[in-house]
Amino acid sequence: MTVALFPPTTRGTVSLDIEALAEGPRFVRTRGMSRWHRPRSGSRYPQDRVVYGAWCGYGIGGSERTGAFLAADEPPAGEPVCATCEGRAAGAGQDNSPTGRLLLFTPRDIAPPKNCPASRSCLYEALSGGRVGRCLACGELQPLRAMGGPYNPRYSIVQHQAGAALVPPCPFHRWRQLTTAEDGHVLCACGREINQ
Ligand SMILES: [Zn+2]
Ligand SMILES: [Zn+2]
Ligand SMILES: [Zn+2]
Repeated sequence: MTVALFPPTTRGTVSLDIEALAEGPRFVRTRGMSRWHRPRSGSRYPQDRVVYGAWCGYGIGGSERTGAFLAADEPPAGEPVCATCEGRAAGAGQDNSPTGRLLLFTPRDIAPPKNCPASRSCLYEALSGGRVGRCLACGELQPLRAMGGPYNPRYSIVQHQAGAALVPPCPFHRWRQLTTAEDGHVLCACGREINQ
């Protein structure tokens, strides 16, 4: 049995050979750990190394072939479980509440931003006339404004609410680092394609 994982969001750089995992085991621990933790996110590295980010902040992983860590649907009876992981996993909706009460935990960087991430940027396609642009991140038509100083003038699309057609996020950097490729399509600055 696997659970759906949350994206492995980070402020750091992530090379293109690292893959975000969509599913993972319910519980993991290394042999040296005193308790089982719950994966919030997972990343696959070259040579079949997998690292799970636990809800409490621990990173647990290693080579899947050498059994560097243990995974379980249910910890063996009597073995303790990390309380932070258990509460946050249930509160974020990854699993049922262990108490029966409605728990709530809202991880950061998951919900789409209210303002379009392309606001005040050059991520637009100018329409004829040059006063309106089509947002490359969300598809909305919005006015263009001159921004920057007198010595550095540039046109930007105005701040606007993210349209319903907002591009899917990078699993690692979400919508924070959108940029354009040479042919004009939008992608994450880490190089990952985010096409629908
Ligand atoms: Zn934990
Ligand atoms: Zn937009
Ligand atoms: Zn990225």
